[in-house]
Amino acid sequence: FEKPGKIVIISSPSGGGKTSICKALLSPARKRQGWRFSVSCTTRQKRNGEKNGREYFFVTETEFDKRVREKYFAEHFKVHLYKYGTPRKTLDGVIKKGGVIILDVDVQGAAAIRKEYPDAISIFVLPPSVRELRKRLRRRGTETNEQLRVRFENAKKEMKEYKKFPYTVINKELQRAVDQVLDVIMSHSCRTDNIKK
Ligand code: 5GP
Repeated sequence: FEKPGKIVIISSPSGGGKTSICKALLSPARKRQGWRFSVSCTTRQKRNGEKNGREYFFVTETEFDKRVREKYFAEHFKVHLYKYGTPRKTLDGVIKKGGVIILDVDVQGAAAIRKEYPDAISIFVLPPSVRELRKRLRRRGTETNEQLRVRFENAKKEMKEYKKFPYTVINKELQRAVDQVLDVIMSHSCRTDNIKK
């Protein structure tokens, strides 16, 4: 009996806490077991502390569009003001070789991936409240007021999308949220129809 590789989609409005959850999921121990983060391409500017190839591959608009034409992406969308895309080859690699690949994508990306990879596990991370979401976005301090406003308005809209996801985790306290995500992944992978013979 063998369990195939897993695609795990983590979505949330910005400020929902998915970046911290993804980081915690990719502990050294789990990395040794073949857990990986799917590094997307984006046309947005690199933020302080980000490294090309770690959080994202930062590419120009021209390069991004070229990759779209070459069908390099499993999905790609404009999110907020920039383009983002998930490279197809990392997903297919995990499905073939086993392991777990974590995707941090927006709700449109999640829907596109679910369509193409019906076995993907998709989890929506909600902040405890709209008030807390606004607080977290402000605290991050990485955006200008205008960018913040766009993000907050989008985030409120995105929060309503959780019903499209089979699993929802409320991120009140990080460690508890991470444990819940791990439980979801574990139960999903133990489903009888997820065992290859
Ligand atoms: P940020 O610019 O704050 O890193 O990400 C902005 C939004 O883009 C987040 O909601 C994030 O989940 C989403 N995102 C990041 N990479 C991808 C991707 O490859 N595809 C899609 N559809 N969304 C992405």
